[in-house]
Amino acid sequence: MKMRIKKGDQVEVITGKEENKGKRGEVIKVLSKENRVVVQGLNMVTKHQREVQSEGRAVNPGIVKYEGAIEASNVMVVCKKCNKPTRVGISREGDKAVRVCKKCGGLLD
Ligand SMILES: [Zn+2]
Repeated sequence: MKMRIKKGDQVEVITGKEENKGKRGEVIKVLSKENRVVVQGLNMVTKHQREVQSEGRAVNPGIVKYEGAIEASNVMVVCKKCNKPTRVGISREGDKAVRVCKKCGGLLD
């Protein structure tokens, strides 16, 4: 199934890790091949980076935090109109397909 989440969408995590559940954020990256999305500020992953020596100085030592990808099926797009997480429906407007909220019918694009 084709992913119906796009970069810039507001999403809510509906299932998965306890720390992420119920949280909302903006999609900053869509990994369509892996069926995953990266959401700003969510699912933070901590990486302990070894010190890198550059010209005798330590560069970027310590801990690096970044957003880990989340299964697309674990998140739902938040509708701008009804402000609820919803499944995405597809509606035809003339000759183009638009994404609509399954709950209120509001446009998601
Ligand atoms: Zn809605």
